[in-house]
Amino acid sequence: PESKLPSLGTTIFTQMSALAQQHNAINLSQGFPDFDGPHYLQQRLAHHVANGANQYAPMTGAQPLREAIADKTAERYGYKPDANSDVTVTAGATEALYAAITALVRTGDEVICFDPSYDSYAPAIALSGGVVKRVALQPPHFRPDWQAFAALLSEKTRLVILNTPHNPSATVWQNADFAALWQAIAEREIYVLSDEVYEHICFTDAGHASVLAHPQLRERAIAVSSFGKTFHMTGWKVGYCVAPAAISAELRKVHQYLTFAVNTPAQLAIADMLRHEPEHYRELPDFYRARRDLFIDALRGSRLEILPCEGTYFLLADYSAISDLGDVEFCQWLTKEAGVAAIPLSVFCADPFPHTLIRLCFAKQEATLLAAAKRLAAL
Ligand code: PMP
Ligand code: GLN
Repeated sequence: PESKLPSLGTTIFTQMSALAQQHNAINLSQGFPDFDGPHYLQQRLAHHVANGANQYAPMTGAQPLREAIADKTAERYGYKPDANSDVTVTAGATEALYAAITALVRTGDEVICFDPSYDSYAPAIALSGGVVKRVALQPPHFRPDWQAFAALLSEKTRLVILNTPHNPSATVWQNADFAALWQAIAEREIYVLSDEVYEHICFTDAGHASVLAHPQLRERAIAVSSFGKTFHMTGWKVGYCVAPAAISAELRKVHQYLTFAVNTPAQLAIADMLRHEPEHYRELPDFYRARRDLFIDALRGSRLEILPCEGTYFLLADYSAISDLGDVEFCQWLTKEAGVAAIPLSVFCADPFPHTLIRLCFAKQEATLLAAAKRLAAL
């Protein structure tokens, strides 16, 4: 058939994980932990399966989970969404992003993204007939340029998509960034899609700044999160979004025909986890900070230059002292010849991204990180 997405191939994550497997490389490319999530969470899943929670969950999400999400949001961001009208459980953050974009973007609408940006946004926008406008973020700090942002605003601007903590740059927004965003769009009817899947993996003193903590912005925002990241269970594919009732109602119209509902026992198990073991996500910054620091320490002797890492479980490294290759070729070489798989940054950008940066995932056991660092330090 004539392709609706002619320039699109298979995602870089699938490509690099396959290449890593083929060459028996240590896989620091696709972002996922090589350790298991909490034992309690697994036990609760088994419990709910054994107790007959095996039929469709409510379309909007299991009630105990929506309530636990509303309470967690209140605890973290000082704002309690209505569990019935404002919280929707989705099949991972990926589904939430797709449903949000599909619900909001009409043919010819413009959507502003910050590049590098996560790879699922642009195809969803294209399938809705929208047009992506990009603000380039520059290394090493990847701060938004608000003048460049303002220059992109037009009558057609419908949606802004942001991501903090940011994959792949590992930088985070501060409250001042949200204030600047509000100032730029206050007078216009523009919605905000805030991808906050790494909300609990933030290392700054100020902590994660959520769109939900901004009283005006949250009136037009959809905040998206993922339990895959928070509970080390990327394969469970349970995420959610929080948005005002009117926006949630539109999003649910898409969600009900995209997946209808998310698997029941996993939702109930996650609700138990949020209620009974909140220390898990409260301690997540320390948990990942220790891994980040161990990995950075182990890389000290290497010729890679490590960039600042304020959040997420990704670390950026500049390899220009090692190779003249472009980043895609370098990552292929690194996988095949050095036995470490990484993600090239240029794949997250539509425009040329003339930097020599790779993304390394440190959601790994100590032994994995030390073994990878040894190989990288030998280059
Ligand atoms: N957004 C970002 C920025 C991500 O890094 C990811 C996961 N890699 C997702 C969305 C998708 O999350 P999920 O696996 O829950 O669908
Ligand atoms: N979000 C993960 C990453 O950035 C990958 C998710 C996927 O493979 N689709 O590595």
